[in-house]
Amino acid sequence: MFLSLALSAVAVSSAATLAVRADAGGTACTAIASTLGDAQVAVSPLDASYIDSRHDYWNARQSKYRPSCVVYPKSSQDVSVAIRAIRASGSRFAIKAGGHSPNNFFSSVDRGVLIDFKSMTGKSYDAATTLATYEPGSNWGQLYEFYQQYGRTVMGGRLSGVGTGLALGGGLSYLAPQYGMACDSFKDLEVVLPNGTITTASATSNPDLFFGLRGGGGNAFGIVTRYTVQSHLVGKFYAGTLIYVLDHAQKVLEATRDFIKYNTDPKASVLVTYETLTTPDLLLNLDEVIVVFIVYDGADPGAAFRNFTQIPRLIDTSMPNKTYKEVAEMPIPYTAEISRADNFFRIGAHRIEGNAYREVYDRYAAWADAHKGLYVYVSLNFYPVARSMTDASRARGGNVMQMPDGPWFWVNYILSTPPGMLPDLYDKVQASFRAMVEATPSATGLPLFLNEAAVDQRPLASFPTYRRLQQIKREYDADGFFTNKTGGWTFD
Ligand SMILES: Cc1cc2nc3c(=O)[nH]c(=O)nc-3n(C[C@H](O)[C@H](O)[C@H](O)COP(=O)(O)OP(=O)(O)OC[C@H]3O[C@@H](n4cnc5c(N)ncnc54)[C@H](O)[C@@H]3O)c2cc1C
Repeated sequence: MFLSLALSAVAVSSAATLAVRADAGGTACTAIASTLGDAQVAVSPLDASYIDSRHDYWNARQSKYRPSCVVYPKSSQDVSVAIRAIRASGSRFAIKAGGHSPNNFFSSVDRGVLIDFKSMTGKSYDAATTLATYEPGSNWGQLYEFYQQYGRTVMGGRLSGVGTGLALGGGLSYLAPQYGMACDSFKDLEVVLPNGTITTASATSNPDLFFGLRGGGGNAFGIVTRYTVQSHLVGKFYAGTLIYVLDHAQKVLEATRDFIKYNTDPKASVLVTYETLTTPDLLLNLDEVIVVFIVYDGADPGAAFRNFTQIPRLIDTSMPNKTYKEVAEMPIPYTAEISRADNFFRIGAHRIEGNAYREVYDRYAAWADAHKGLYVYVSLNFYPVARSMTDASRARGGNVMQMPDGPWFWVNYILSTPPGMLPDLYDKVQASFRAMVEATPSATGLPLFLNEAAVDQRPLASFPTYRRLQQIKREYDADGFFTNKTGGWTFD
């Protein structure tokens, strides 16, 4: 009797909670539409822009959630209106730029307000100061293309389709060994605070907030509605994709180790990826390939990539005269396989001395072999962190990671599972993948790369500035509005 009463009380209370949540989202949407107008608020799930905003995520899992509406702000004032209405209603919400975060509810929301930046794509360049200013709604390809006309570029990501949320999480690009992380080039940010106030953050205005936004992640301290950044000179690149068959796995691994350890040319960058499909290709063994992107800022890389070019390649597309946008659009194998899959990231940070580079590969390869049939695609990616990169970061004031002197490296792991996998199985595969990653613990003293970390990895806690970030969070999100009403990194 007592048990059934208790159960019905739980049922009533969760039904009430759901009703309140649904109402709160709807209330917020109505209030926002009454100020911004219906054209800026998509309420119907059949609306073409609603469908687009709901489905355009790199991790297809985010598309199963149904926002109460999608708001398309055109200015910081519109964002402020939306935040105040969301606050007043008690609704949940999410902020979406490029939609590439794989973590649940970081840029997706179920029965709440989705603020999608796709209408805020303003960009400009000031030749007198060489500063670039852009709104958050473009992707990096669009930004690189725009600044190309001035012979300049902004610091963003390595792939054109990723969005500007990348810069708030640090932002690693092929130019990082010359100029540091993307957030190191921030000069002035316009921010809508969790209470709806519009303010600016720079070295002199709200310096703590500015500090937190230099790599502390999006949707933590406020919503950035305009970025003013130091632009950088850009010319033509020597760049290409080298593809190797798996027989050369060990040789490429050693070339990677040597590049990380010995390369001192800041114009030379590599991204080394081991990629595996679930099904064995018995004829050509092309279910497993090694793809190395080589990028040189200039026409002639000299011997910078010799370790890689000495190894026989199946395909080599490297050539001079590529624009930076073309570099960011170099084709990636297997994109079709992961384009609508449930994609997830994990990260590791390791020193180049010792055997970690080999251990991460051996564990990854063994896992990929043992779990055939349970994933669509898995990948292991080596990101060198050069001494020149950590020097460049420090010379620009540093960021929240206070990156220890290079060389060291991050490894990113991608797990893509088929959409619609049964929840139990999905959880088991994720848990097993996580155990594989954790079997090679990250080195103490190195920051985890927030942009490619899983939420449970708690990257902020790996930064030496964590206490200060907690304080900034308490100051700017004083009543925990962002903490309680949107997804994001934990600060406890
Ligand atoms: C295919 C792929 C390639 C990648 N390549 C790189 C790379 O080269 N370098 C690198 O550093 N990272 C890279 N990443 C990681 C990437 O930086 C993160 O996934 C980042 O979160 C993507 O930003 P977004 O705007 O596309 O995603 P979103 O999911 O829209 O945003 C990411 C987070 O930031 C928040 N956010 C976005 N904009 C704002 C804003 N204006 N104000 C406040 N919060 C905001 C969102 O709420 C969300 O929590 C890559 C990811 C993928 C999937």
